[in-house]
Formats: sequence, structure tokens, C-alpha cells
Amino acid sequence: MTTNKKIEEPKHLEKKHEDSERVKRAIKIATKAHEGQLRKSGEPYINHPLAVKKILEEWNMDEDTVIAGILHDTIEDTDLKLEDIKKEFGESVAFLVDGVTKLGQVRKNMDDLDTYLPETKDNFLRLMVATGNDIRVLIIKLADRLHNARTLSALPPDKQRKIALETLEIFAPLADRLNMGRLRVELADIAFSYVDPKRYDYLKKLIEENNKLASRALKQIEDEVSELFKKEKLEFEISGRVKSVYSLHKKLAKHNQNMGEIYDLTALRIIVPDVTSCYLALGLLHSLYTPMNERIKDYIAKPKQNGYQSLHTTVITPNKKIVEFQIRTREMHQYAERGLAASFYYNEQKLTENYKQGKIEHLPTNLLWITELQDAAAKLKEGKKVDLRKLRLNLFADKIFVYTPKGDIIDLPKGSLPLDFAFRLHSEIGGHVVGVKINGNMSNLNRRLEQGDVVEILTSKNQTPKVSWLEKIFTSHARQKLRQILPKDQQI
Ligand code: MN
Repeated sequence: MTTNKKIEEPKHLEKKHEDSERVKRAIKIATKAHEGQLRKSGEPYINHPLAVKKILEEWNMDEDTVIAGILHDTIEDTDLKLEDIKKEFGESVAFLVDGVTKLGQVRKNMDDLDTYLPETKDNFLRLMVATGNDIRVLIIKLADRLHNARTLSALPPDKQRKIALETLEIFAPLADRLNMGRLRVELADIAFSYVDPKRYDYLKKLIEENNKLASRALKQIEDEVSELFKKEKLEFEISGRVKSVYSLHKKLAKHNQNMGEIYDLTALRIIVPDVTSCYLALGLLHSLYTPMNERIKDYIAKPKQNGYQSLHTTVITPNKKIVEFQIRTREMHQYAERGLAASFYYNEQKLTENYKQGKIEHLPTNLLWITELQDAAAKLKEGKKVDLRKLRLNLFADKIFVYTPKGDIIDLPKGSLPLDFAFRLHSEIGGHVVGVKINGNMSNLNRRLEQGDVVEILTSKNQTPKVSWLEKIFTSHARQKLRQILPKDQQI
């Protein structure tokens, strides 16, 4: 990758600090509580909460959150009592540890993600929302999951698969919902490498080869752009950004596996001091190269649902190279990479005050949905009714919810096809599909399912699974199930 200038973290986000006395005490207590316990890898258990602590510090979370991270497994796995934590560290830390513990308990009741019932998922969500009353609970849970994902290789294969699937279906979308881009990419790519290793390796190689091929051309473009920007006295940083494996997988599925339609495999990212400079940079780029009109996106004027902001444009160079540019301010960059965690840093003072009152009020407008989430949580706590489906749709913007003819709700990733639905119901059904009715009408297996569709799978005992069905499948879950039941001579 050509990178003439690395985009550095701003200095104030790298502050290295000594552990405070409270943090030191938390480490001491956790170490004693977990004494003698080992992780599956054989190392002392305390290494895990200490790794979670480090992640939370990297995210610049406040001290209470860091302490709760150190103690997050003590209630569940040791003799330590919540009362002790409250006495030692106060109400707020105790509340956070309690929230993380409760989330863990709900998960335990759901042994196999494949057999998740919609109601069980609802309960999980309800609890996530309720504990999300203090959204820092979710952030600790995400840090916990990140470390568990990073150390997944120590677990037996069936557990690896279970945790990877859950990471892909629940935690990575949650990170995305919180606009924590860097976390989403890491969680999704690790999980995908366990869920569908073959596909992961294939796409990873594809990206690497493409980068090698593109690097010289990109370097030239970078130089041209730099020269022009300097001439115009624009302050800027430019660097390459590589697409993640899982997002390429999802994008290819959306474009019928046609690589020719993927224009952002590698993109150049430009960081400028302020919003005006963003539009100036966009104008300069368009004076240099021909923009593909339908691919100019102004996420500054219209932020994505999760608060993401940037200008995107795809241009064609005189050498017929197609390149995507992403232009943003440093602050937008911080939000895109760290999301909610970054907002905690920027709003540290205000948030601390608000947390004492039990409510966030002064988040940037593009993160206002967090306030909505908290309002819903407060209502739930008071026993009031909340339209969970609406909330869930917001939380999982990349999911659709479809119905069986009996009215059971099945959730699938956006872009799913009838065969994904069939294999989600059961391999027996998936293997014998002869057709599909959508909303009562005969349809075909290439039709993408939409929010609220009623899907009826037609089967025949005489039907056998076909290798060609792989092209009519979107989810790795269904792809894997189909591969398992393909006749021996058709195995690939
Ligand atoms: Mn843990």
C-alpha cells in the first residue's frame, strides 16, 4: 500500500498514564479473586480482564469503565460479591459490573446460535437495551468480546464456531451501530475467518493481490493530488485504506459476485482541518479527474444512521484507473474509527455530569439515537411497553425480518435470498427446495427478500441439493449447510 503519510492519532488521544490508586486496587482485587483460574490457553485467567482493561484504555474510556472492565468476570466466576464492589468502588462501577454480568447470563441460556428462537433473541436484545441504559455496559461487553475473539484459536472448533457466529451476527453489527468502525472491522474479519475459512482466505488473497497491482498507480495519483493540494495551500494528510475481507464479501454478494462492480477495493483517504476544506478538496479532485456522478456521496450534510460523516467520490483518472476518495476532518475520522468511544472522550466532562443524573444529553446530533436508546431503556425499566421491533430494526440496520407462513419471525442479513431463509429453517428444508412463494405469489430463488416478506418454501422429497445453488445464496451459514449436504461427486 502506498502511504506517504500515516494518519497519526492526535496527541491528546495517546495520553499514557500511570494507573491510578483505584485502578491499582481493582487489579489487586481481581488478581486475588481469579487466583488459580486458567484460561483455555493455559495462561492465568487474570490476563483476560487485564487485556480488557487495556482495550478500554485505548478507547479512552473513563476510569469507572476501566475498573468495571478489570472486574467484569468476578461476580460470575469468583467469590467476590457485588456488595463488595459497591463498597470498594462505588455505585457506578457496581452498576456496570452487574450489567455486564447479566448480559453474560442471558447469553448462557442460548447454547446454539443456529437454534436461537426469535423470542430468545428478543430477550437478549431487551436486556442489551435495558443494560444499555448505561451504554458503557455495551462498550465493556464489546471490549470483552474483542479480546475473546482475538484469542479464539485456543478454543475447541465447535466453540470457536459458536462464538464466531455470534460475533458476526450480534457484536459486529452492534459495533457498527455505535460507529466504532475499527472495532467492527476487526471483529467481523476474525469471526468470518472462523465461520467460512475458505472464503476468507480466498478474499484476503484477492485483496492483497489487488493492492500489489494497484500500488504503483495509486502512488502516482497520490503524488498528483498532493502536488495540487500543496499548490492550493490546503493542509491535508493522505493515505491508503484497504477494504476489509468481510465487507468485500458482503459487497460481492450484493453485486452478484461481480468484481468489476467493486470500485472501492482500495481507496485513498484525505484528512483536512475543517468542513470547508472537505468541500474544497472535493472540488480540487474533480478538477483533476472525472467524477463518476452517481458515486458522489455527501455524508457530511447527510450523516449515515450511525453518525458516520465523510465525503465519498469515485473518479476516473486519465489512465482509466478508477479510485475512490474519502474526505473528512480529523474529528470525523475519530468518530468513524472509534465512534461512541471517541464521543466519550470528546464529551468526557459533560458526560460524567450527565451520568450522575442518569442521562446523556449533549452528544453530537449525529449520535442522538443513543439518547433514544436510553429513553427506551428507561421506559422498559419502568415496565412500560416499548416497540422493540422498531428499536431492533434501528440497532440492526443491516438486517431484515421476514415471516414464515405461521408468523414466526426470522432475521437475516440484508441481501438474503430464499435459500438463505430455507437453510435457516433447517438443512432438511434447504436441501429439498423446488420453489418459493413470497407474500402468497410464486417467485424465484434469485429474488432478494425484503423487510416483512412472508416466505413459504416449497419442497419435494425427490429434490436433491445442487452445486449451482451456491450462486443463489447470500449467507455463509447457508453456504456451509449446503456444502455439507452436497452429493460426494459435487463437493467443492
Ligand atoms: Mn470476560
